Amino acid sequence: MFKAIVISKSGDAQQCAVRDAETTELPEGDVTLKVDYSTVNYKDGLAITGKAPVVRKFPMVPGIDGAGTVTASSHAEIKTGDQVILNGWGVGESHWGCLAQQARLKGDWLIKRPAQFSARQAMAIGTAGYTAMLCVLALEQHGVTPGDGEVLVTGAAGGVGSVAIALLAKLGYRVVASTGRQNEAEYLKSLGAAEIIDRATLAAPGKPLAKERWAGAVDTVGSHTLANICASMRYRGAVAACGLAGGMDFPSSVAPFILRGVTLAGIDSVMAPRALRVEAWNRLARDLDPARLDAITHEIALAEAIPAAAEILAGKIRGRLVVNVNA
Ligand code: NDP
Repeated sequence: MFKAIVISKSGDAQQCAVRDAETTELPEGDVTLKVDYSTVNYKDGLAITGKAPVVRKFPMVPGIDGAGTVTASSHAEIKTGDQVILNGWGVGESHWGCLAQQARLKGDWLIKRPAQFSARQAMAIGTAGYTAMLCVLALEQHGVTPGDGEVLVTGAAGGVGSVAIALLAKLGYRVVASTGRQNEAEYLKSLGAAEIIDRATLAAPGKPLAKERWAGAVDTVGSHTLANICASMRYRGAVAACGLAGGMDFPSSVAPFILRGVTLAGIDSVMAPRALRVEAWNRLARDLDPARLDAITHEIALAEAIPAAAEILAGKIRGRLVVNVNA
């Protein structure tokens, strides 16, 4: 028996509670994990509240991220006792996830946890932080360097935003943070933001082209915000678009792309190939200051992940929530 958050459905109504689960209920997989820590990401918030159809079958254990110790494995490269990390791959959506004390997963989904991070720190990073790193890698791949000018991060006080600021600042970029929470200005500056702007300045419908400002951008918001960012990119700048906290639409024009050579780089963490994941985690180990990570992190117990789901969707969570599934 082990404790798990379980989402079930009767009729149209979705319920979510912590309950004892049997190991015989675990799904198929070649690796069994004792989970040490998980997280609450935006997508976990959608799954637990049922606000979007993230969960594909019921009952479902949510938790798109996990860090833990392998207790059984028939996978060629994963051994009992290995310390591993899971991010995405549809776990917590169509395969039982890691907001539980045990998980059964495919070994191909797992990567070894970098020695620089404890299980708790790896989950403080989680999908949000790993996605922030994918965004930074995309900007680098498109040639954005610290000497090119300012880089904008939207949804700055959230999980992806907080880690993106810490990473970009450490790499020498001048980071401008866009937030709706001006009371978090000191927090954002402590992560390395040089300037804070009000997200309202980006939220309204804008012109196809505006004054050139950003050499690069990490956008977690979408909708008019992303359209306005594209309109304000400098010549040959690059935007890494990873989120939809403000909406799924993209009311833009082709003008920034065909007149200023702007690149819009799409970022997906869920199905990202293994080599890219390993690169991202290695770069996190190199470029993320552990002290900044601790400032971002708030730890909660397993049952607290349920009320936290609504809070993250309401944009009330600062930084990252780490879930101690054994508390
Ligand atoms: P968080 O909830 O931690 O952060 C989102 C932030 O967006 C909030 O903190 C808030 O920042 C801002 N925000 C919230 N609502 C609005 C709004 N209506 N308009 C403008 N800004 C808003 O979530 P995460 O950081 O974990 O995820 C951010 C986004 O990235 C989500 O949409 C998520 O689905 C997506 N994502 C995508 C991934 C991928 O693979 N592509 C992986 C991980 C996340 P502030 O208060 O500072 O304004």
